Amino acid sequence: MSENGSAPGGLALVEALVNTRGLESGKDTLNSAEGRAAFGIEEITERELAAVKELRESLRAVCLAHAGHPPHDVVTPLGRLLSRAPLLVTVDERDGSAGLAAAEEGPLLSRVAAAVAQALTDGTWLRLKACELPECHWAYYDRSPAGRRRWCSMSVCGARAKMRRYRAK
Ligand SMILES: [Zn+2]
Repeated sequence: MSENGSAPGGLALVEALVNTRGLESGKDTLNSAEGRAAFGIEEITERELAAVKELRESLRAVCLAHAGHPPHDVVTPLGRLLSRAPLLVTVDERDGSAGLAAAEEGPLLSRVAAAVAQALTDGTWLRLKACELPECHWAYYDRSPAGRRRWCSMSVCGARAKMRRYRAK
């Protein structure tokens, strides 16, 4: 539903993960192996799936916070989840630049943690937000110059919110 393309760099992974669940439709693509394949987690246990969903809702709450909204649900603090994700400091031999990467190949939690760390370096983290409308709360990347975008889509959720305000008058 994103109006202007997905989030930059590794944040696209975070955005895509948050948007595996449609709050209004009740659809959750993590429930199918095909949907999970997009994250390299098609073969996971029930318990691991529950952990991924927990991570997803913690990420959604943080995206909401970036837009100044309270959490949509009771969630585990994202920092607590990410503290279990080991990260490595990587150094480029050629130019000496350094960064953070997932400690092992695979675990989604580590890849998400690495994406968050990278977004901090890039200054993009606070721009990953969630739509204001309670039935939506879709993640989007705010590219507006002032950084005050409130909806995942102006034409859908923005129009809905305006209609509601109009009716309330
Ligand atoms: Zn929306």
